Amino acid sequence: MSNSFDTIVVGLGAMGSATLYQLAQRGIKALGIDLLAPPHTLGSSHGDTRITRQAIGEGDHYTPLSLRSYEIFREMERLTETSLLEVTGGLMISSLSEPVSVVHVPQFFQNTVAAAQKFGIKHDILNAKEIRLRFPQFNVDDDEMGYFEYDAAYLRPEEIIRVQLKLAGELGATIHTNETVIGFEENAKGVEVYTNQGTYTAEHLVLSVGPWLTELLPQLQPVFKVYRQVLYWFDIADSFEQFAPPKFPLFIWQLKGAEAGVYGLPALDGPHGGFKIGSSNYLTEPVTPDSVERSVSAEETVEMFNSKVVRCFPLANKQCLKSAVCLYTVTPDSAFVIDWLPDSQRIVLCSSCSGHGFKHAAAIGESIAEMTTKGHSRLDLSAFKLGRLAE
Ligand SMILES: Cc1cc2nc3c(=O)[nH]c(=O)nc-3n(C[C@H](O)[C@H](O)[C@H](O)COP(=O)(O)OP(=O)(O)OC[C@H]3O[C@@H](n4cnc5c(N)ncnc54)[C@H](O)[C@@H]3O)c2cc1C
Repeated sequence: MSNSFDTIVVGLGAMGSATLYQLAQRGIKALGIDLLAPPHTLGSSHGDTRITRQAIGEGDHYTPLSLRSYEIFREMERLTETSLLEVTGGLMISSLSEPVSVVHVPQFFQNTVAAAQKFGIKHDILNAKEIRLRFPQFNVDDDEMGYFEYDAAYLRPEEIIRVQLKLAGELGATIHTNETVIGFEENAKGVEVYTNQGTYTAEHLVLSVGPWLTELLPQLQPVFKVYRQVLYWFDIADSFEQFAPPKFPLFIWQLKGAEAGVYGLPALDGPHGGFKIGSSNYLTEPVTPDSVERSVSAEETVEMFNSKVVRCFPLANKQCLKSAVCLYTVTPDSAFVIDWLPDSQRIVLCSSCSGHGFKHAAAIGESIAEMTTKGHSRLDLSAFKLGRLAE
């Protein structure tokens, strides 16, 4: 079998599997390589669900990526008769009278409202009284405000990766799992990719290795830091209907006075599956996929319940039914890097996207396929250049 390809994609998580699917759709001879067998639970793309929304508070330049991703996720659902994106509505809560901890960026709430207005995204602005009437499960303070987005939805990350790889394979992509890329070299003719099992050549190389990025590119260690995140599923069996769709939306809540807010999703797996809640962590020491503590201690679970869950959702029980450790790979400005490697027109770097990338992954995959086939993407990726982080 020939070891020569048009494009090689290294890392087949959210970003790489989306890219491989888009390349295969374009008839590109593509090889995808992953050191494990995605979907798996050691990177950034597991934990049953991801939030997607359309008015993007991280910056309105993300909204076209999100809107296009909705279309591609829907197209994959039609092609495979699977459920990948379920609309529940989404509630963002923030205090406008007191500074609050930010999600990834200052003015997240205000940016969200502005993006909704700019792109005509259906939403309501709610005061505390209106939140309590519509969503009594949320224990808001009088000075907190809500933004409710009607089409906010949850995604099934593991299923999306499975579907993207299945479609890519059916369209002719070659997929090598349990094979590790250990290096690569660009020369006048193309790129050579070295793995623990062989050498491959290609016109283009896409690096979408998530939190393993600085293992392949150690020179980027000052730019990309990996932080341990914990997801919890707390018991709500006593009040299941209050925590299940259609009564309970997904949420992002910037908590006053706390070092970090909370986000979460409704109970999706029956009365005994719990509801999911997390709190983004950027404060502990950075980790690596090898060094990170993968188990969740009883102490941190109790701390999460006492400091956040009971305060926000008094109906929830303290019993934690399940937890998971996942990894954010974060840039100093919490934005993405989707760019050619410096001085290269052959190697594209796609970062793991600072804890908010899954919702955009389908359109990022399409954009990278366009970059490597046409030299540029239809959607504007100029905000995601590596050079902005040069310092
Ligand atoms: C707790 C948590 C909650 C999140 N919530 C949301 C959310 O609600 N909404 C949202 O939009 N985003 C969210 N995100 C962010 C989103 O999940 C990530 O941006 C996205 O999953 C990153 O995907 P990735 O493909 O870059 O990384 P990964 O999925 O980790 O994929 C990287 C792949 O590269 C492979 N690999 C690594 N090194 C090599 C090598 N040398 N050779 C071959 N293969 C290699 C790995 O095995 C892995 O499969 C969340 C992230 C976390 C951790």
